[in-house]
Amino acid sequence: MTTDTFAESGADLELVGIHKRFPGFTAIEELNLTIPAGSFFALLGPSGCGKTTTLRLVAGLEAPTAGRILVGGTDVTNQKSFQRPVNTVFQSYALFPHMTVLENVAFGLRRRKMADPLGKAHEVLRLVELDHLASRRPQQLSGGQQQRVALARAIVNRPALLLLDEPLGALDLKLRRQMQLELKTIQEDVGLTFLHVTHDQEEAMTMADTIAVMNKGRIEQMGAPQELYELPRTSFVANFLGQSNLFTGPVVSTTSAGVAVDVAGHKIVVPAARAHRTTGEITIGVRPEKLTLHSAKPTHDADVNVMGPGRVTDVSFSGVSTQYLVEVPGAGTLIVFAQNMTFGSDVKFGDEVWVSWGVGHGFGLDDDPADAPRFEADFDTRSIAAQRHLEGA
Ligand code: ATP
Repeated sequence: MTTDTFAESGADLELVGIHKRFPGFTAIEELNLTIPAGSFFALLGPSGCGKTTTLRLVAGLEAPTAGRILVGGTDVTNQKSFQRPVNTVFQSYALFPHMTVLENVAFGLRRRKMADPLGKAHEVLRLVELDHLASRRPQQLSGGQQQRVALARAIVNRPALLLLDEPLGALDLKLRRQMQLELKTIQEDVGLTFLHVTHDQEEAMTMADTIAVMNKGRIEQMGAPQELYELPRTSFVANFLGQSNLFTGPVVSTTSAGVAVDVAGHKIVVPAARAHRTTGEITIGVRPEKLTLHSAKPTHDADVNVMGPGRVTDVSFSGVSTQYLVEVPGAGTLIVFAQNMTFGSDVKFGDEVWVSWGVGHGFGLDDDPADAPRFEADFDTRSIAAQRHLEGA
């Protein structure tokens, strides 16, 4: 179908100094955010961090304690929910069971007395590739198809902004992955601004142009998925978006090329351009797939960091890769992901190994290592993220 009808209909969303206090609890601390028109923006964070509250504020289902909300430059803070150019797709599709797919999609248009509701409904159903099922009732569709109808029903109103509240949460893993790609394609076709809320980091990375990682009512970091993954700014981001090996130690030398940190007697170098702090006690990290295991100590190379010897304390095979845990005295337990390039592995439980990685792959965080309570909380989240990774969810 032609997408001219929808093109350029998205609008910027601006949240300016938003605070939200419930009796006895501050859900949003201070939120300043601009989401450019036509972008696919994901708010990512653990349960209770304030994602749904943010979405409800934008939809007009809650009022902010302070701050302003602008859509396409218009201040909508005091507008009622139905007056805002915003639609929401929830995890539960809430389709009308007694109506056909076509009538479900046309419902909102009829209620607003729009011209040609059925023609417009067909057009949007073609977009989500369900027009051939227009005369079915919702219960005659699969979960993924029902979710596409829910999406069509929201898109047909041509909102300036579409809010997605964990829309794929009810689908099984395989269908969810397929729908992620479809949703992204549909968003590109219609050019609307999508604000997607999720606790699933893989989902956010697959779909969004920009991700804001939220923690305890604040945005910890915002950027393109790859940028956040490769250069996390805090330990929370480093462990919520994928997993990381993090080490804390004193800086022993700083040059224009690199910052060297003493980690339990190992000199570990991080490129200066990738380090947020360059003096005192700092936390540095590297992603598990950047590590290589060795059965003998590697020869010295200035571009490579080496840790070891350590002992393999766990080997878990997960099909495409194998995860190794390596205990390095003083430095802690390192996680290593190795692609399964050959049958079986040379490295086994209990083996003595060394771990290496290219200096260029390391990053230095902005965390204050003295900020103990945050590290405690982050550790919980890390376990959850690790668990989720292992479950493939
Ligand atoms: P989830 O992924 O579990 O939905 P979330 O990030 O969307 O979590 P919110 O629903 O935005 O989290 O809730 C943020 C915090 O605000 C939570 O601690 C929650 O208990 C609290 N909260 C939400 N609504 C209210 C309310 N009406 N009264 C008091 N506290 C609330």
